[in-house]
Amino acid sequence: MQLKGKAAVVTGSTSGIGLGIARALAAQGASVMLNGFGDAAEIEQLRAGLSSEHNVKVAFNPADMSKGNEVAGLIAAAEAELGSVDILVNNAGIQFVAPIESFPAERWDAIIAINLTSCFHSISAALPAMRKRGWGRIINIASAHGLVASAQKSAYVAAKHGVVGLTKSVALETATTAITCNAICPGWVLTPLVQKQIDAIAAREGISLAQAQSKLLAEKQPSLAFATPEDIGAIAVFLTSNAAAQIRGTTISVDGGWTAQ
Ligand code: NAD
Repeated sequence: MQLKGKAAVVTGSTSGIGLGIARALAAQGASVMLNGFGDAAEIEQLRAGLSSEHNVKVAFNPADMSKGNEVAGLIAAAEAELGSVDILVNNAGIQFVAPIESFPAERWDAIIAINLTSCFHSISAALPAMRKRGWGRIINIASAHGLVASAQKSAYVAAKHGVVGLTKSVALETATTAITCNAICPGWVLTPLVQKQIDAIAAREGISLAQAQSKLLAEKQPSLAFATPEDIGAIAVFLTSNAAAQIRGTTISVDGGWTAQ
């Protein structure tokens, strides 16, 4: 229970990797502010279940990460409802796949806003109180696409490279404090975000979902196995630990060998 007495905000935590991270932090005793979209009754069930399973306070805030004022509002709400924001996990993200010539400008703007600019807003809102309390952990969920590129993902690759750069700057600005900022770079994790891409491959190539899944893995991930939200949650917990106090401004890849190639 290394996080008893700490409070965490995890953006985009109603699904996938964010939910895995929220579960892992709650299991260590942290109170958690969930955020994201979805069915209100299902989210309430998730919130109440997480709270009773780990005997921690769990709140939910529906702030839209594409809107700067709502991102700042999420941090203010967490400080008011949980007492502090000691751990900030910037995880909310979306994907869109198309060649750049036909990439809708509206999708570009949405990806940059949700995947990158929201991290600026949340960090600048959360940092002053972290500095006052003298401790903090900022964990940005980037991607293998924060380190290398793929075709047809210009906005996502630009946003995730931006997240890695932002991580380095924030780490330097906090280097002499007990606040650290790092990024986790997952490869393929089987979540709704990736399932959509598997569905698209199956439809485009007239193959089964299982074949499309194998093809997606074989193209990028040498292990031929998905990383899991639990794997990413465990790395987030590690980054909050004392052992990670001097890990600053770097990336941890959890990508089955994707970026070793
Ligand atoms: P997901 O679709 O399962 O979850 C995304 C979460 O973000 C959901 O809770 C959704 O409600 C929320 N969200 C989306 N738009 C939002 C908005 N405007 N405001 C607030 N919340 C919003 O996706 P995931 O795969 O779990 O992705 C989580 C993060 O991990 C993303 O940043 C993604 O880029 C990154 N990532 C995923 C993979 C992967 O293989 N799944 C790999 C590398 C990086």
